Amino acid sequence: MAEKLVSTEPSTGAELWSGDIGDAAAEVAIARAAWPEWAAHSIAYRMETLRRFANVVRKRTDEFADLISRETGKPLWETKTEVGAVVNKVEISVAAYADRTPQKKLEAALGSKVAIRHKPHGVLAVLGPFNFPAHLPNGHIVPALIAGNAVVFKPSEKTPASGEFLVQCYHEAGVPEGAVRLLIGGPNEGRELASQPGIDGLLFTGSARAGSALHKQFAETPSKILALELGGNNPIVAWNVKDLDAAAAIIAQSAFLSAGQRCTAARRLIVEDGKEQKLVEMITTLMDRMIVAEPFAHPQPFMGCVIDNASADHLQEQWVALMMKGGRPIRRLERPKDDRPFLSPALIDVTDAKDVPDEEMFGPVLQLIRVKDFDAAIDEANNTRFGLAASLLGGSPEQYDKFWANVRAGVINWNKPTNGAPSTAPFGGIGMSGNHRPSAYYAADYCAYPVTSSESDKLRGSIGEGLRDPNLQED
Ligand code: NAD
Repeated sequence: MAEKLVSTEPSTGAELWSGDIGDAAAEVAIARAAWPEWAAHSIAYRMETLRRFANVVRKRTDEFADLISRETGKPLWETKTEVGAVVNKVEISVAAYADRTPQKKLEAALGSKVAIRHKPHGVLAVLGPFNFPAHLPNGHIVPALIAGNAVVFKPSEKTPASGEFLVQCYHEAGVPEGAVRLLIGGPNEGRELASQPGIDGLLFTGSARAGSALHKQFAETPSKILALELGGNNPIVAWNVKDLDAAAAIIAQSAFLSAGQRCTAARRLIVEDGKEQKLVEMITTLMDRMIVAEPFAHPQPFMGCVIDNASADHLQEQWVALMMKGGRPIRRLERPKDDRPFLSPALIDVTDAKDVPDEEMFGPVLQLIRVKDFDAAIDEANNTRFGLAASLLGGSPEQYDKFWANVRAGVINWNKPTNGAPSTAPFGGIGMSGNHRPSAYYAADYCAYPVTSSESDKLRGSIGEGLRDPNLQED
């Protein structure tokens, strides 16, 4: 009998869903067999099918948001926006396909043409994270299907029910069952899927740890495309801020939305030493007002729990480690119920701490770092092996220019939160945050490869140089 995977609601501990662990080889074989027919449809047909998918999801918004809230513990208002992003992804991907991977014909010599067209890779594996269990895998799957690939999708082992729901919506809309396959399982099934000879590439959103492991696994198959969207240790710099209210709100939003479980969440707040007191007071006032509660509570909470007890335990250990290294808590990381993963938003001054690890704390913890001048703020912003998102709040236009020029990240904002990146733009990071294959609007780029064809409707051929004259006799 197949092994079972069980999904529980983190906010209550109740069992939500259970299903059989899948077989990567079998799913890839089904997708391979279905791929040629899907790829042979016109692009217009595939786009229309995906538009039907958007309609199916739109109609099922409440049901879908309810499920994601149960499975992740995120507030209902937030999961409704996630479902909205799933719907919107279709039109954005249609536009991106036409913009990034269009068909073009260039004039060439003697009336011939150079055609540039794009072809799908074949079968693409998609591995999803738990924090946006619908929006993020969908951000790979929709462009992959539009381009003409078949997909084998493995959702996170923490959110299999949301993954299954998403796949049901593709099928309900008319994407052939063979063209999108669901593989249930955890890291083992992820590794197994990544090692299948029958895949032509893998599109991954998740941790830097798993991304690095996949990069090693793919080292011997440069023929396969690998797109890695990984984590961050993102800085937010507040400098000469005039509107402290707005800055405090943006900082709190950047650090604590989704209980800090966003790849773009601000992890490090960098401020000018000696001038931070008022801003810190306003941030902590907001933190003290934040409602942390179960997803369907009234009034709606600002944030829910983190994904499971193991993650909450890990965050608490990381918090204690920061204090042991000399961090000074400003608001402690509290866990009101020992057996549930609700955590309060926390702020810790690590300026005088020693050997603070450059790791992503994937929860509601913000580290404060005081620096002496703006150059030191930029150095501190870059003091990470990651490079996903960075924001400057305040500062002059010249300082923003300098910040933009010298900070290493794929998302660099001014007077805006680190998170909430627009889907109509490319999204990705450098350093340990990815492998230079940005997603969102540029996902079209990694879903198809360009084919250049020199074409002429007449066959013309002649060799101009280097031939002997046939009329000359040789001695
Ligand atoms: P994770 O790396 O633990 O898991 C992601 C997926 O990979 C899951 O499906 C998991 O089963 C699978 N997996 C894990 N280890 C694997 C391995 N060695 N080989 C193959 N598959 C493996 O990530 P998570 O905890 O689900 O998600 C949170 C992480 O995702 C954070 O680091 C966050 O920053 C990152 N993230 C990045 C982006 C982005 O766009 N850059 C967006 C959201 C989340």
